[in-house]
Parts: sequence; structure tokens; C-alpha cells
Amino acid sequence: MTISSFEALPLAAPIQRVLQELQYTTPSPIQAQSIPLLLEGRDLLGGAQTGTGKTASFALPILHHLLQRPAKAKPKSCRVLVLAPTRELAMQVGKSFSTYGKYVPLRQTLIYGGVGQHPQVQAMQRGTDILVACPGRLLDLIDQGHVDLSHVEFFVLDEVDRMLDMGFLRDVKRIVVKLPSQRQSLFFSATLAPHIVELAQGILRNPAQVSITPETTTAEKIEQQVCFLTKESKRPLLEQLLRGQANATQQKLTIVFSRTKHGANKLAKSLTTAGFPADAIHGNKSQAQREKALERFKKGLTPVLVATDVAARGVDVKDVGLVINFDLPNEPEAYVHRIGRTARAGAEGRAVSFCSEDELEYLRDIEKTIRMSIPRWDSHDWHEAALAERHLRGKSLQQPSAKKSPQGQNRHRHSRNRRAPQVAR
Ligand code: AMP
Repeated sequence: MTISSFEALPLAAPIQRVLQELQYTTPSPIQAQSIPLLLEGRDLLGGAQTGTGKTASFALPILHHLLQRPAKAKPKSCRVLVLAPTRELAMQVGKSFSTYGKYVPLRQTLIYGGVGQHPQVQAMQRGTDILVACPGRLLDLIDQGHVDLSHVEFFVLDEVDRMLDMGFLRDVKRIVVKLPSQRQSLFFSATLAPHIVELAQGILRNPAQVSITPETTTAEKIEQQVCFLTKESKRPLLEQLLRGQANATQQKLTIVFSRTKHGANKLAKSLTTAGFPADAIHGNKSQAQREKALERFKKGLTPVLVATDVAARGVDVKDVGLVINFDLPNEPEAYVHRIGRTARAGAEGRAVSFCSEDELEYLRDIEKTIRMSIPRWDSHDWHEAALAERHLRGKSLQQPSAKKSPQGQNRHRHSRNRRAPQVAR
């Protein structure tokens, strides 16, 4: 059963009220498919990324169930446990629960590393209704006897693919064994690769499976382009793009991706000096620094955010009109996550990737992963035609003996079609 309006869903009045206030009228595809199943009490295996409305797809039915079955959380315990891979995502999920649960009197606690544990320990002492946590710190607090998971009624594993990428498999398994067997479990991942489904099978009980196909996400609203240029030209082209953004009438915010923390710091500093106020977020920044940078970014005070992959995960800011891959990621999947920072909540967006000689290999891997050629943007002043040609031929000067792909030279044939291509998100 799928549903075309929120009013048609048997969600409790305090939840309907907030949806009206938020002017959410139509459920997104993942919401339309998941909410009825979750209201029935089913376990769920969901293939969906951020940006698809996945948070509401689990937060709304969970809030509904909590309202229907009022109970006091026991000391050190929680009724709902959501595991998220990063602090940013945990905070975002927590914020969504607060938003959707505005008229539901529930207590919520966040647990993540990088900040002192004392306030989190104190918050857990009385018990909490909803606990959103990152695996590492949660295990620390469990081991110290500050958190007890034996009363969890709802367990959500969010962004499982990322969780595994970040090496949390063991932690997740250690957490799962502490949960009671009587519970409703939900499992969300951008991809449902065999190893992820296998993990889900050990955690979920007779789950319903829903998957959002790429066509129904906002990814097709992202105009992707790749520029071939020298390393030295990256900076002037970046400034040209940022000038364009500064003069834009809407969606003025830009996220610039750097491969390294040091590179992110250096770039943010020098952009600020050049008149483009920028902040950097990466794993070495304290939680308070990251929050402050994100707040300033959202408000447009620093309209440029220079980020590394892990730090930008879960950043959900509506007015990001442009994502620039100043460095290409060496993990192809990161490309998909990066460009998904634009075109949020139905808006359109543009993602420009810079590719210098030493990054041709990365570009090839990315195009193989997303199964398309990224349209080339060569009408800028720094275009390196020879590099573009080499990419086209699938060769690298650094590795003249590089093997040809089995399909030969046509594998990376560039599309002349400038229409925004579709990417799996
Ligand atoms: P998420 O995939 O949960 O990160 O959500 C992406 C964005 O879409 C968030 O900013 C939500 O506030 C927004 N959103 C979620 N569901 C709906 C909906 N049904 N109608 C309009 N906006 C929504």
C-alpha cells in the first residue's frame, strides 16, 4: 500500500499538526512506502539516502507509536535508539525528531564523541525516550555502566553503508547483542549491496524491504560537470566560480571539497583573505567549532564551506547551489555523497569537479562507479585540452603502459548531452 497524502495516514493528531505547519503535504516515495509498514509494526530494510525524506519516514511512525504507548523511560535506558555514523548526522536526526515531535512531550538525548561525556552521562541518568548516538561513544558509556539498552523498543541503524565504510561493523554488532529480542528494527542504507543485506538479516526479523530508485530522488536535479586543468589553475577557476555564486540571487552557498584536512584549512584561510569568507570543517575540528561553522554557513555569514568527506557527511543545508570538488575523492562512492550536498529538498544544484593530471585515475573510477561520463565543461580560461583528450582515450601519461579497459577507448565516451544526468544516490 502506498499513500499519496499525509492526511490519509493514521498518524496521531500532534504529528499531523506539525506536518501541516511544516507544509508537508505529499509524502516522499520512501515515506509513502515505509510509513504504513512501520505503523503496522514491521521491521524494515530501506534503500535510501539523505535528501529523500528518509528521516521523517522513520521518525514519524516512531513518534506515533510512542504516543500510543505512553511509558516512562527507565533510568539509564531509552525507548528508541538511533545509531548514526557521524556527529553531524546524529545531530541532524536529533533535530528532525525535535521538529516532528514538537507537540509530543518526549525527552531526547544525543551521544557522540569529541565532546566531554559528563553532560551525556547526566542526561542518561534519568533515562530518555529517544537516544540518537554514534557507535563509539555509546559503547564507551555502556562499558562504563552509564547506558542500559535492555529496554529499547525501536532500533534504527541509519546510513549503514557509511557506518561500515567507517569501520563500525564490530561496534554495531557489539551494540546489537545488548538489545532485547522483542523490538522493532529499521535499517537504512544508500546501497543494499549483498554484505549489507547479510548484516541486516542478522538484525531484522522478517523485514519488509523498500528501495528508492535513483529516478525518484533529487539527484537528477544536479547538473554535473568536470573541468580538466592544471593544479595551479584550480585556484583561479575556483575564485571565478565563487564570484558567480556571490552575485547569484539565490542558492548562494557553496561547499568546496578538499581531500585533506590540511588542504581544507589552507584553502579556507586563503579564500577568506581573497575576499570569499570561508570556514573549514573536518575531523580535527572540535564539535563546537564544527557546529559554529555550520551555523555561520547556514546563515550565509560565511557562504563558502571547505570540507573533507567525513565532516560533510549528513550536512543538510537547503541553499547550497554549488558543490565544487577542488580535489577529486579517491573513493568513488564519496563523489556521490559529495554532490548530494546540493539540490536538497527538491531544489536544483550544480556540482563542478576539478580534475588535474594526477586525478585522471580517480575520475575513471568515479565514472565507472556511477556508470556515466560526467559532462565536460571546457569553456573556461584554464581548460587543458590535452588532459581531456587523455581522459577520453582512457590513458595516463604517468602510466604509459596502463592497461586499456576491456571495452577499449569508448568506455569513457563523453556525452554531448548537457542535460543533468542521473546518478545513483
Ligand atoms: P532527509 O532525507 O531526511 O535528510 O530529508 C531531506 C529534506 O527534505 C529535509 O530538509 C526535510 O525537512 C525535507 N522533507 C522531508 N520530507 C518532506 C516532505 N514530505 N515534504 C517536504 N519536505 C520534506
